[in-house]
Amino acid sequence: MATSLSPLLKQATGVIAARGEGALIFDEDDRRFLDFTAGIGVTSTGHCHPRVVAAAQEQVGRLIHAQYTTVMHRPLLRLVERMGEVLPAGLDRVFFANSGSEAVEAALRLVRQATGRPNVVTFHGGFHGRTVAAASMTTSGTKFRSGFAPLMAGVHLAPFPSPTHYGWSEQEATRFALRELDYLLQTVSSPADTAAFVVEPVLGEGGYVPASTEFLAGLRERADRHGILLVLDEVQTGWGRTGRFWGHEHFDGRPDVVVTAKGLASGFPLSAIAASEELMSRAWPGSQGGTYGANAVACAAAVATLDVIQDEGLVENAAARGEQLRAGLEKVAADDDRITDVRGLGLMLGNEFRDHAGEPDGATAGAVQQEAARRGLLLLTCGAWGQVVRFIPALVVDEALVDEAVGIWAETV
Ligand code: PLP
Repeated sequence: MATSLSPLLKQATGVIAARGEGALIFDEDDRRFLDFTAGIGVTSTGHCHPRVVAAAQEQVGRLIHAQYTTVMHRPLLRLVERMGEVLPAGLDRVFFANSGSEAVEAALRLVRQATGRPNVVTFHGGFHGRTVAAASMTTSGTKFRSGFAPLMAGVHLAPFPSPTHYGWSEQEATRFALRELDYLLQTVSSPADTAAFVVEPVLGEGGYVPASTEFLAGLRERADRHGILLVLDEVQTGWGRTGRFWGHEHFDGRPDVVVTAKGLASGFPLSAIAASEELMSRAWPGSQGGTYGANAVACAAAVATLDVIQDEGLVENAAARGEQLRAGLEKVAADDDRITDVRGLGLMLGNEFRDHAGEPDGATAGAVQQEAARRGLLLLTCGAWGQVVRFIPALVVDEALVDEAVGIWAETV
């Protein structure tokens, strides 16, 4: 019987990657591609960073898997200790899973158990994963939700302050979003029923829309006033991606729970939630976890990832290269009236395509993405209509590669 991959997979480029090196991918004919997708923001230290490879290789020969409900292992203990260097103040308890979706679900279980309240409020355009509870909180596109209803009950939606979407200033969009949130808490999900707000500091799949300082401060204030917990989904924005270690550092938003994955282990499946001891101790031991949680090789890779981020100044590099990339993209957009917005933070930048009627133009964005791949630049799209072409290279990307990417981008559009 001949078998082949299911059409459930929608592949954008047709490239078969044979090897990766830093911000580059080489296909099976050794053709070189600038990988400005980083495996959807995962390979933070670049493909196969020698120190991550060495740490993983060493660990593979020592111990691949030991289940944390039975025995601990040193890479896990080392990672827990090291995360104290980077986690927001007060979030001194961590727990591990394998993917962003699982960590989102872990956060959901934690806030429901800790508060005894059933509901969570999430925000329009948010992406929190594809498992059923995570998909219930996801509204960045119907493809993540349609056809497998009923989704989880108890999820309520409020607007995210998206200036481009509403055609308003950031201040107007923020004021609207907070007013609608208050209305929701007054009419649909009372504070006494609401366990948490779950929000991304920068909408990822939803179109690379940064939150505003006023918005996150507004969530914090309402959370404090009503005993609601603030969960920041930093799966895409964490580990230096935005030019600060955490995306919320741009906005002074103090979280009760942080969810992290992607860049954490440079490509090994690992995710985590972090919260205070007081909060974690309100949930039930044994209610979280899974067979593969905190895999020893993934934890060793995560420790090496943190070493590399710190020793090579990758957060600072993300900020500097992000500024360079933004300037290049803005220059291209200035000459092309189909690109109506360049936005994002650090090395998480999106270009919004609109047609002549001002409508989101996913067809052009998709065509541009494919043409860029033919010219050696790998990019992703996002946004509800697929209308945003996003750039998320590894944090090790250098000045020359950013220039080269902008050059290909300019020719492509
Ligand atoms: N949360 C955010 C903000 C994400 O961007 C993603 C994935 O893109 C997820 C959660 C889900 O992560 P995973 O695909 O690892 O399950």
